Amino acid sequence: MGATALTGQSDQATQDSGEQAAEGQDPMADAPENVSLRALIEICARYMSPADLELIRSAYAVADEAHRGVLRKSGEPYIEHPLAVARILAELALDAAAIAAALLHDTVEDTSLKKEDVEAQFGPTIAAIVDGVTKFAAVEAEAPAPDGAGPPSPDRKARQQSETVRKLFLAMGDDPRIILLKLADRLHNLRTLGSMSAAQRERTARETQEIYAPLAGRLGLYLVKSELEDLAFYYLDPATFADVAAHLKEEEQKRADWARRMRKRLKRELTAQGICAAVNWRMKRPYRAYREAQDSGMDIASLHDLIAFRVLVNSKPDCYRALRVIHHLWHPHADRIRDYIATPKINGYQSFHTAVFALDGRLAQMHIRTHRMHRAAQHGVATYWLERAAAGEPVTGENPVRIAEALGWVTQIASWQRELGLSAADFVATVRGDLLEEQIHVFTPKGHIRELPEGSTVLDLAYQIHTEIGDHAAGAVVQTTTSQGLLVARTVGVNYVLRRGDIVRVVTSPDAKPDVSWLDMVRTRYARVKIGRSLRRLDAEGGPGERTRNVSERADDGGPLVEPLRHPAGGNARVELARCCFPCPGDKIVGLAGPARRVTIHRTCCRSLARSLQRRRAAGRADAEPLAVSWSQIQPIIYRPHLLISGQDHKGLMHELSKLAASMNLSVSGSRAKAVSSRHRAAISLTLDVPSTTRLDVVLRQLHTVPGVLTVERDLSKGC
Ligand code: MN
Repeated sequence: MGATALTGQSDQATQDSGEQAAEGQDPMADAPENVSLRALIEICARYMSPADLELIRSAYAVADEAHRGVLRKSGEPYIEHPLAVARILAELALDAAAIAAALLHDTVEDTSLKKEDVEAQFGPTIAAIVDGVTKFAAVEAEAPAPDGAGPPSPDRKARQQSETVRKLFLAMGDDPRIILLKLADRLHNLRTLGSMSAAQRERTARETQEIYAPLAGRLGLYLVKSELEDLAFYYLDPATFADVAAHLKEEEQKRADWARRMRKRLKRELTAQGICAAVNWRMKRPYRAYREAQDSGMDIASLHDLIAFRVLVNSKPDCYRALRVIHHLWHPHADRIRDYIATPKINGYQSFHTAVFALDGRLAQMHIRTHRMHRAAQHGVATYWLERAAAGEPVTGENPVRIAEALGWVTQIASWQRELGLSAADFVATVRGDLLEEQIHVFTPKGHIRELPEGSTVLDLAYQIHTEIGDHAAGAVVQTTTSQGLLVARTVGVNYVLRRGDIVRVVTSPDAKPDVSWLDMVRTRYARVKIGRSLRRLDAEGGPGERTRNVSERADDGGPLVEPLRHPAGGNARVELARCCFPCPGDKIVGLAGPARRVTIHRTCCRSLARSLQRRRAAGRADAEPLAVSWSQIQPIIYRPHLLISGQDHKGLMHELSKLAASMNLSVSGSRAKAVSSRHRAAISLTLDVPSTTRLDVVLRQLHTVPGVLTVERDLSKGC
């Protein structure tokens, strides 16, 4: 798609057959009909009935008339925009109602046409889709500019933006075509953003990075998501984008020969085993490569999955047979095996992932899936229409069941709106922070799935289940997998940070009640708002020994007492701890600003921080100065101390240490016993995941109490 052309990346699996159809048109032919319309109709005709095509032609006629005489900033007639949006949807084989709505999508907002006019001519379904993507208009009406004609103030603009996004969030539960249309609209706007003003570009690109790209990801539309991400990255930080793209190009040239040999070898081995497979490879896209390099503190060149191989087969059993062939051929890297076929991701993604030590001893990332899974991996919820079209079946029902399942989380949005009554800005921030961030799933004892953002605690889950359960939560019994792969049951406190796949039974007690400290133990804004309200209620009831003096200050809008860290570009920062120097509470730290409001926290002594700053300075970038940060500005987060422990070499020291860690609700993310020359001595390096609600000195003291332990200290040399 667009970004592919922009960066010159090879993505052999891009399905964009429509592109050729348009290029094949002769622009000089004296066509009575708009060329783009003809191309659109040609795509639609592959899967639509003549009656459907008639509907599309009449929607076009109305839209063309309404936008007549208006030009886009790029100089082309305005109608080219709705035509392009309709075409994006036609390539996903969406139905005639969606295509007609796409053609009409800007008429109510920008022309004299009213919602009632659209409804009268095209019926309530199409009118509702158009209305879903129409800007929220009341803000403009209630607060006119003083001179009546000036541009809207930045404040009002921001409010209207929030109101519009909230309106869209609430509407998309009614009809999934609304959000697909909005994403297509945004995609085309970004593809043609170059002719907009700098302020407009910045605003659109930022909103895309924060809301629309993650939304596309949650709906499983990976092709749309990655194009949105790359385009937003390009507009927000052109210099870094160019740098990353050049870097990728260089790596691709270096590795292309190896990739081709790999492909040939794979193909030959699979064919020899009677497996019919399509094998191809792709380079990682610029934004993803940039983010992953930043997150891991590594150079782009050292990401092992810069190239990923795709093995596409015809059936699920073939996936596992192909896997056996590959693992027989090359030794797998045990840590990198993921079976998303048996356990799909929340958005439905299915694939087998493995990494093998392949030709030339290089680690090769492999994705094995069926062609059908591959289509679903690229197009998410839109696959429903693609498959109907491919089978020549009509789309039936207003809201296909499978889509309703995939959009289950959307219904949560509507209930939050009723329940929380937040301002539009707070509402959008809550949805973004709680639903669009990276999610994990945990299970109830009965096997029901619950989704929560990564870093959520037992309290977050308790409030998600029910306010009463939250208010009386005393802890939980968790079945969790240890780093050794054992399934163990543990009793944990309310501040236990949930891990992917945990089976959680929240334990309540009539005596348990919210405490101010709970505000720091939750990850979701939803739980924080709920706790704040309960605290104020308890305060008003005047319970004995309440420690809620600061409640109204702290919990009014669910915000913490200390001003949270701001990103230099505006808005609250999304804080992450660097994986190069592993900062722990108490360390001297600074922040490094990234895109999408991300701020990565490094220790001041970190070497890779110094390198990043140097690079930025050399490029003359404005963000070459680190940000001052204090620990109190950082929300609950998991930190990862690396510990060096020496002790008497009695059997089971490691076992004792992990038992203690477990009893403190800490997970061991790594451990290694070192050989020591002097006999009867053990040296162990232990890496723990510790919630910031637990102090490191307490952890060290506790570990010291393990029989046989002589010294416990933190390994301060990591990254510094
Ligand atoms: Mn539009």
